[in-house]
Amino acid sequence: MDKEEILAKFSADPVKYYKVKLFEEQGFERKLCAKCGRFFWTLDSNRNHCPEDSDDTYSFIGNPPTKKRFDYSQAWKEVESFFVKNGHTSVSRYPVVCRWRDDLYFTIASVVDFQRVMGSKVVFEFPANPLVVPQMCLRFKDLENVGVTGRHFSSFCMIGQLSIPNSQGYWKDECIDLDFRLLTDQFGINKNEIVFVEDVWEGGGSFGSSLEFYVRGLELGNAVFTEFQGELGNHTTLDQKVIDMGAGLERFAWITMGTPTAYDCCFGPITKNLIKKVGIDIDSDLLSKYFVEIAKNQGRFSNLLEVKEHAIKNAGLSHQQVTKIINPLEGIYLIADHLRTLIFAISDGALPSNVGGGYNLRIVLRRIIGTMQRLGLDLDLNEMIDWHIDYLKKTYLELKEKRDDVKTIIEVEAKRYEESKIRMQKIADNLKSKGQTPNVDDLIRMYESDGITPDYLKELEVIPEIPSTFYSRLSDLHQSVTKKEKEKLPLQNIPDTDLLYYKDDPHQFDAKVLKAFEKFVVLDRTSFYARGGGQEPDHGRIAGFDVVDVEKHGNIIVHELNGGMPKEGETVSCVVDSQRRDGITKNHTSTHILNSSSRNVLGSWVWQNSAFKEEDHARLDITHHSALTEKQVKEIEKLANSIVQKNLPVKIENFDRGTAEQKYGFRIYQGGIVPVKSIRIVSIKDFDVEACGGTHVKKTREIELIKITRTKRIQDGVVRIEFVSGKTAQDYVKQHEDEQEKMREEQAAKEEKDKRREQRKEQAREKIPFLLEQIMQSKIGTSKVDEIEIRTTEAGRFCYSTSDQYDEYFHINFGEKLIKNDPKASYCGIFDDDSTVRAIIYSGEESKNKNAGSIAKEISKILGGSGGGNERFAQGGGKDKSKKDEAIKKAKSMALE
Ligand SMILES: [Zn+2]
Ligand SMILES: [Zn+2]
Repeated sequence: MDKEEILAKFSADPVKYYKVKLFEEQGFERKLCAKCGRFFWTLDSNRNHCPEDSDDTYSFIGNPPTKKRFDYSQAWKEVESFFVKNGHTSVSRYPVVCRWRDDLYFTIASVVDFQRVMGSKVVFEFPANPLVVPQMCLRFKDLENVGVTGRHFSSFCMIGQLSIPNSQGYWKDECIDLDFRLLTDQFGINKNEIVFVEDVWEGGGSFGSSLEFYVRGLELGNAVFTEFQGELGNHTTLDQKVIDMGAGLERFAWITMGTPTAYDCCFGPITKNLIKKVGIDIDSDLLSKYFVEIAKNQGRFSNLLEVKEHAIKNAGLSHQQVTKIINPLEGIYLIADHLRTLIFAISDGALPSNVGGGYNLRIVLRRIIGTMQRLGLDLDLNEMIDWHIDYLKKTYLELKEKRDDVKTIIEVEAKRYEESKIRMQKIADNLKSKGQTPNVDDLIRMYESDGITPDYLKELEVIPEIPSTFYSRLSDLHQSVTKKEKEKLPLQNIPDTDLLYYKDDPHQFDAKVLKAFEKFVVLDRTSFYARGGGQEPDHGRIAGFDVVDVEKHGNIIVHELNGGMPKEGETVSCVVDSQRRDGITKNHTSTHILNSSSRNVLGSWVWQNSAFKEEDHARLDITHHSALTEKQVKEIEKLANSIVQKNLPVKIENFDRGTAEQKYGFRIYQGGIVPVKSIRIVSIKDFDVEACGGTHVKKTREIELIKITRTKRIQDGVVRIEFVSGKTAQDYVKQHEDEQEKMREEQAAKEEKDKRREQRKEQAREKIPFLLEQIMQSKIGTSKVDEIEIRTTEAGRFCYSTSDQYDEYFHINFGEKLIKNDPKASYCGIFDDDSTVRAIIYSGEESKNKNAGSIAKEISKILGGSGGGNERFAQGGGKDKSKKDEAIKKAKSMALE
C-alpha cells in the first residue's frame, strides 16, 4: 500500500483522523508547510513551516528549552513516573534478542515486545494495559552514521507507550493529551514549542493515522493509531485497535541537556571519561555550531561525506580542528555506542559470529577495535564495559549479573579478530597491488567469507569510503530468518487431530480414518508423536501397516504408511512402537538437562541452537564461542547425571503465553518460538524451564544415565554435543569399558615385553666381556661358550648363534666387540623377529672373507629374503625360519674356506 495515498486520504479529513480533543481545547492551529506540503498542528501563529523546515531546527543545541537537565537515566525516571502517575504499568524491558519472533533476530521497536506471530498474522499480547516500557532496540542499518551525525545509535531506548482502547486503555484523545502533558508538565517545555505533524503508518496488513511530535526540529515521539486492516478504500476497522507511541529516550535527554550531540548526554560518564583519557581539547561553542550544521543538513546531501564537508565549512573548522577534535570525537562516540550495543546483546544471550544476527555483533566489535587502532587510542575494553554497566544498572539492573560474561565474550572475540588480521592483511594487500576497488557486493562477500570489515579496508586505503548502502544491505541480509515452507497436502475440511500423546498417551488405541490418500493417513485421534522440535516421529502400526513417518500440518497429524492403506471411514487399531518412543523420550528429556548443564558450566550465553532426538542417539547444538575442552565435557556430563540421580520430577503445565513469559522470562524459548497462545511449560524444578511440545520422562532417574559421546564446534558460535541416554548409554559405557580393558591388557603385555628386553640388555652388557675373554682363549676346533658356537681354524675364527636367548642388541654389541678383539674373527647371529628371521653379520679386518656384506647377501637368499651392508657389518634375513641351519652352514663356509 502506498503511504502517500493513505496520508492524502487522512489529511483530507483532518477532523476525523487527526483533530484530537487537546487541539480543540488548547487552540492548536492546523497549517500546511510551505516547503514540504505536510500538515502540522501548532499553538504558535507565527510558525509557517513544519519542524524540519523551520529556522529554529536544532536550536536546542547549546540552548535547551527546559529549565531542568536530565541525563539518560534521569530522563527515563521522569517519563516513567509521569506515565505511572497516569495509570500506566511500567514493564521491564524485553530482551534485545527477539526470541519470541522467528522473523527477527533483534528487537527493533518497543511494540515488537508485544507482537506475536500466529500463522501469517501479527497479534498483540499486552502484559498490562496501558503500559510503558523502556525498550532497548538494536538497529544496524545506519552504522556509518553512528558517532558522526550526533543522533544515530546502533542501540537506543525506545520508550513504548502502549494502549488498547477498552475499559482500561484509551484512544487518540487521551494519548495525545498525555504526550502533551509529558512534555509540558513533566519536562517543562513551553507548549508553543510543541508541534504535531500528521502522518500515517502501515505494515503487516494494517494501518492508521499517526501524530509525530517535535520540539525545535527534534522528533521526540510518534503516536501511531493502528486502526484499520485491508486495502485502503476496502478496509475494515480492527477488532483490536492499538496505540503504539514510540519515543527515543536519547532525545528526551538530549533536548534537556542541549549538548552538541546526543552522545554527550546518553552514555553517562563514558564520553567525558574517554575525552579526558584521549586528551581532546573541547570547544563546545564550536562543536555546537558544527553539529547543528550536521543535523540540519542531513537530508540535503546524498552522502554523509558531503554533509560533513558542508558543516566543516559553515562552522569554520580548520583542517587541524577536524583531525584533532572531530575525528577522535567521532571515534569515541562510535566506541561508546557500539560497546553499549554489545553489552545488551551479549547479556541477552547473543554471540558475535558469522551467522545470523551474530554478523552484526561481530562487525560492531571489529569497528570498535578498528577505530581504537586507527586513532591510536589506548583504551581498556573491560574498563569501558564497567563504566557502561555501572551507569546503565540504574535503569537496567539485570546487566550487573552479566558483567563477567560480557567481558569473557568480548575478550574471546577481540582475540579472534587479532588472529584473523594476518589473513585480512594479505587479502587487502592483494587488492591494493591489483589496484582494485571492491564494490558493495564484493565488500559484503568479503565480510561474509573472511570477516573483513569495510572499515578495515578504508583504514588500509583499499577503498576511499564505505559505500553508504553497505550496512543497510548487510543488515537486511542478516535481520531475519527465512522459513522453510511445508509441503501442501489436500487437508481441507479435516478437523484438528485429537492428540492423545498429550493426554493418557495410550500406545494401543482405535481411531477412525478421516482421510487416506497416496501413502498418507489422517485419523480422528492419534498417539503417534509427529516430528517436531527436533524430536523424531513415532513408528508403529496402523491397521497392520507400518508407520514410517508422522508429520504435523497445522493441527492435523499425517501418518505415512508402508505396505498398504486402510480405507476412509474405517476404524483401525493402532500400535505405537513403545521401545522406540521410550528411547526418544529419554533422549529428549536429556536434551533439556544437558542444555541447562552446559549453561551452568559454560556461561549465560549458552542457548539451544537446535536439537535432534532419535531412538538411540541424539544431539544438542548449543551457542558457545569455542570448542569444548575435555574438562568442560566431563563437568557438563557430571552435572547432568547428578540431575538424573536426584530423580527430580519433570512437570508439565499449560500457561497463557504472556503469563509464562512474565513468570519465567524468555529462557523458555530454547526450542524457538511457540506459535500458539496457550503454551506447554516443561520444568525440571528450577534447573530447567522450557516451552516444549515433546515427550518427556516423568522423573529424571528414568533416564538412568547420560553419556556425551562426542562434541564438535560445527560452526562459528555453535558447538554440537552428541550423546546417548538410558540403555544406549549403559551399553555405550559397557562397550567403552570393554575397549578400555582390552587396551589395558595390551598395554600391560607391551610393558612386560619392554621389561624383558631391558633385562636382556642388562644381562648382555654384563655377559659380553666375560664371553669374549673365554672365546679368545679357545683353541683350534669347535667349542661352545654359553650359547655361542665357536669354530676356530688356522684361517681364523667363526662364531655364531641361533639361540633365542639373544636378541638384536646382543648380536650387534657382541659382534662388534668380537672383531675388535680378534680381527681374524667373523660373527653370524640369527634370531627370530616376529614372523621373520634376521641375521647380523660381522667380519674382522683380517678375516678370511673380509666381507660381511657378501655373507649377508648369500645367507639372506637362503632365508628367503635379502640383505646387505659394508665389509665390516651387514644384516639381512627372510621369512623361512626352517633354513636357519643351512644359512649358518653357508656363513661358516664363506668365513673360513
Ligand atoms: Zn516541511
Ligand atoms: Zn522438551
